[in-house]
Amino acid sequence: MSSDSAPKRMLLHACCGPCSLEPTRMFAEEGIDFTLDYYNPNIYPPQEYEHRLSTLKEYVAEPRSIDLVEDAYDPDNWEHEVAIFGTDREKRCRACYRLRFEHVACEAERRGFDAISTTLTISPYQFTDIILEELDAAARRHDLQTVGRDFREHYAQATRISREKGMYRQNYCGCRFSIAEAKAEREAARAQREREKRIKHAAILVTAAEGIFSQQNQL
Ligand code: SF4
Repeated sequence: MSSDSAPKRMLLHACCGPCSLEPTRMFAEEGIDFTLDYYNPNIYPPQEYEHRLSTLKEYVAEPRSIDLVEDAYDPDNWEHEVAIFGTDREKRCRACYRLRFEHVACEAERRGFDAISTTLTISPYQFTDIILEELDAAARRHDLQTVGRDFREHYAQATRISREKGMYRQNYCGCRFSIAEAKAEREAARAQREREKRIKHAAILVTAAEGIFSQQNQL
């Protein structure tokens, strides 16, 4: 059940510390009573999973006195339910959101929460519409409210604050596929910057040559 009425208690799926900074600040300012739930079997390798969890605890949950549910790390479940979609990113990410939100909704129902939400929508690198669809679907299956928000306009602020605080900031979404995808995107962006630099340099040389040519003609 999606609803605009204020939830009494909300279970907020947290993907990592930097992405949780702004959503937790805003929900607290709105007076929503929420608990964080770290359920992310997508994260690879296990050391990365632990690093993101410890960052979430150290910089968000503990200093802001927010309760945190630490769910079991079950990457085999992710491999079984999500990895089957391989490099088809849209299908794979949808399955990944569905797996995580279904678990969070189950936990919310079991623990007596009446709503769910997620911090994932702060990232401009995610499929925001699909996240909100899957969040709502999971809530409906468990007769819960959805507090679905598009936090993307706060991404720059979250990036700035997390850098100032010296938080660990990962450079890939989480799964083993996303390590290679993020690397390819960084390399493509670097190649594009190099191309632009070469074009700019060539334009400067042409302008300079034209200047010299025109001076010679005036002599
Ligand atoms: S890219 Fe991110 S959202 Fe998509 S499947 Fe991998 S971990 Fe999940």
